[in-house]
Amino acid sequence: MAMKIVAECISCGACEPECPNQAITAGDSIYVIDPEKCTECVGAYDNPRCTEVCPVDGCIVVDPDRPESQDEPQAKDA
Ligand code: SF4
Ligand code: SF4
Repeated sequence: MAMKIVAECISCGACEPECPNQAITAGDSIYVIDPEKCTECVGAYDNPRCTEVCPVDGCIVVDPDRPESQDEPQAKDA
């Protein structure tokens, strides 16, 4: 799966430089995660790095629309 930033985002920008896959960018109103790049930090960190640095609880969640049962998350690095 990929992670997703929800409306609670205050656009502080803390998460953007922490993502090992450059999956996070500033969107029109909130920051956004590119689900094609997000690996949930598997292989890089024990927990999703963005959720660890985000100051807003519940701001970054697992995207329920992006099930990833078929592919290994690491494969996206290719
Ligand atoms: Fe980037 Fe990891 Fe957050 Fe995905 S979970 S957006 S790879 S920091
Ligand atoms: Fe938004 Fe959290 Fe990223 Fe700040 S760290 S830009 S509040 S998702």
